[in-house]
Amino acid sequence: MTDAPSYLFYQTRNPRPFLDRAEGIYMFDEDGRRYIDGSSGAMVSNIGHSNPRVLAKMKAQMNRATFGYRLHFRTHPSEDLAAKTVAMTPEGLDRVFFVSGGSEAVESAVKLARQYALTQGQGKRHKVISRFPSYHGCTFGALDLTGYDPLREPFAPMMEGMPKVAAPVTYLDRDDLSEEARGLKYAEALRTRILELGPETVLAFVMEPVGGASTGALVAPDSYYGRVREVCDEFGVILIYDEVMTGAGRTGKFLAAEHWGITPDIVALSKGFGAGYAPLGAIVARHELVEPVLDAGGFAHGFTYAGNPLACAAGLAVLEEIEEQDLIGNAARMGEVLMSELRQLMAEYDFIGHVRGKGLLTAFELVSDRATMTPLDPGLNAYDRLVNLAYERGLILYSRRTRGGTAGDHFLLAPPLIITEAQI
Ligand code: PLP
Repeated sequence: MTDAPSYLFYQTRNPRPFLDRAEGIYMFDEDGRRYIDGSSGAMVSNIGHSNPRVLAKMKAQMNRATFGYRLHFRTHPSEDLAAKTVAMTPEGLDRVFFVSGGSEAVESAVKLARQYALTQGQGKRHKVISRFPSYHGCTFGALDLTGYDPLREPFAPMMEGMPKVAAPVTYLDRDDLSEEARGLKYAEALRTRILELGPETVLAFVMEPVGGASTGALVAPDSYYGRVREVCDEFGVILIYDEVMTGAGRTGKFLAAEHWGITPDIVALSKGFGAGYAPLGAIVARHELVEPVLDAGGFAHGFTYAGNPLACAAGLAVLEEIEEQDLIGNAARMGEVLMSELRQLMAEYDFIGHVRGKGLLTAFELVSDRATMTPLDPGLNAYDRLVNLAYERGLILYSRRTRGGTAGDHFLLAPPLIITEAQI
């Protein structure tokens, strides 16, 4: 069946087998081969596949109404999901705006920040600083924040070119600083950049609290997070956490921000928030930002499918399942197990240069020389070979050939949060 003609394209022609069904952490192709979903797809299927509670709640909602336009009706699933989301996020984040995906969430966060600035008479604020490398999505607004050249280059002339600061990739740093000092160094670089740009022009800073696709589960030194918050406060810059990949329990807290006691001004969620049951995302923001915008005439932004009752019913059941099955606790516990297994592999094999992560968002990187972190010879094509070998043996890995445009092969291991120690 894999050879059947296809009229469909994504980034490439699609060479993989047909998916037949999926259950728990496993996926099955039409030939009956079983795969461990080692990356939850693209860090999406956090509660595993075919969860009976979610399916039942979705079916019940389908029998009532699958769509109700948000300007025509309030719906219980959307109101209940908003309330549940607020209850699960840190205090202070108490207004929710629904979208259908991660890029939409990031752009919504930025547009809310901009409209808030306008209500404060700060119309000069329009620059959004992000990190390099980073990934924030592929629509134009989100792409302009993305620090990943292969995706940006074709479209560069069509974007403003939002300013970047270096992501804290400290495991490549060759200085004598402590990790804490390195964290502060990267946060100071943000401060310097704000001053260079003119603080009155800087609207927001957006960051992935644990790096995703472009930096492979990159965790900054602890000192970084608090200092970045202080720098943003010093200049009235809105701090946006892109938790599209890290949110909904993936790292062992509902938001990764909670590991460092940070309350961002706006958080973007998607992926694990709908957990693959419906295209769903959200921004969660402080009411102090939202209310002035609503008072001033409203948020000039919104998507047709936003807050539709079927997606929200799915999202609500996902959050209930996360809570009742203690999947956040399991992510923390199983993350420890997975990380210790990865460390064990690193002790055995020189070509594993680095392992990292938080909770069940983990990564390993292949190198030819661990001391210098020299990437493997690209001619070896290790990236394709390892991904394909794993796939043939029934393990799905998520990988990027480059560290945000610089050389390096890293692989993400991020199984569903329901995974057991035996399955790891
Ligand atoms: N932000 C982060 C951190 C992501 O990892 C992604 C997707 O990988 C996005 C935004 C974009 O999400 P989507 O592909 O749903 O638009």
